[in-house]
Formats: sequence, C-alpha cells, structure tokens
Amino acid sequence: MCFGKCAYCESHVSHVSYGHIEHYKPKSVYPELCFEWHNLLLGCARCNGAEFKSDKFPLADEGGPFVNPCDEDPTDFFEFEFDPITGTANVIPKNIRGETTERELGLNRLDLIRHRNEVVEMLAYLALRAKDGDAVALARLKHRMNDDQEYAAFARAFYKKFNLS
Ligand SMILES: [Zn+2]
Repeated sequence: MCFGKCAYCESHVSHVSYGHIEHYKPKSVYPELCFEWHNLLLGCARCNGAEFKSDKFPLADEGGPFVNPCDEDPTDFFEFEFDPITGTANVIPKNIRGETTERELGLNRLDLIRHRNEVVEMLAYLALRAKDGDAVALARLKHRMNDDQEYAAFARAFYKKFNLS
C-alpha cells in the first residue's frame, strides 16, 4: 500500500530495514483500532520513533490531528519547495494541522533534509530541462511522480509549478 516508503517523510525504508507498522491512531490510546487496516501505515523508524510521532496523537484543539496521507491530500497542508540557492528541499506548512505534523514528525529534520536535498535537486534539474523542451527529462520527471518514488510530492510540485504536460 505504501510502496516501501514511509507514509510521513516519503523516504524509502524497505531496502534498508523492515519499516514499522505504524498505527496512525496509537494503539495505546485506541486499542480497538489496533488491527484496523485503515489505521495502519508503513512508517520509518525515525518518524515513528520516540523522538517524533511515537504515541502522540494531538486532537483538533491541540493543532491536530496529524495529516493522514492515505485519506488526505498532503498538498492541502504543505507546500513542497526547493531553494536553488541553498539547495534545500523544505516542507512548508500551509495551516495549523500542517504545522503540527511538520513539527511533531520532524519533516524538516536535518538528516532527512540532507538526503532529500540530493534527490530533490535532481528533480529540480529535470523540471528545468523539461521546461526547456527536453522530452527525456520530462519522462524521467513523470516517472518520479509515481507513488513508489521517493519524494514524489516534490516531483509533482515541480510539474505543476513549471506548467509541464
Ligand atoms: Zn519517515
């Protein structure tokens, strides 16, 4: 269902670990949902670990709930931006639930950004080449928009931003 990617940070996990079966609503608070398919996501050890999501589940009056990428469109909550000067790929919250999710899940944590920058810089380069009419670059960018690709949200954002088709 998650194509071997962490549902939150979009990093590939299954080639280096088994990943975590993540309970969107934590089983400690919602034990009745423990085996409910719609409550299960694939999470990486970092997003799902004690430093970040763990058993947290903020309610609406606490800025939550976290964005659920299976039920909701992440672009309703985040901008996916690349700064070509610094080479930094950032997830920018658009509203309170986006802010809570970005902060509590560490979607701009340093080690994640370092890896994401490398991939997204290449995506930005493909988008620029595609805008200049490079059909191969456009095909590569479209491939990178597929659900199984790391940081597909950024590829989709570039495709939209540069009015490619
Ligand atoms: Zn993750």
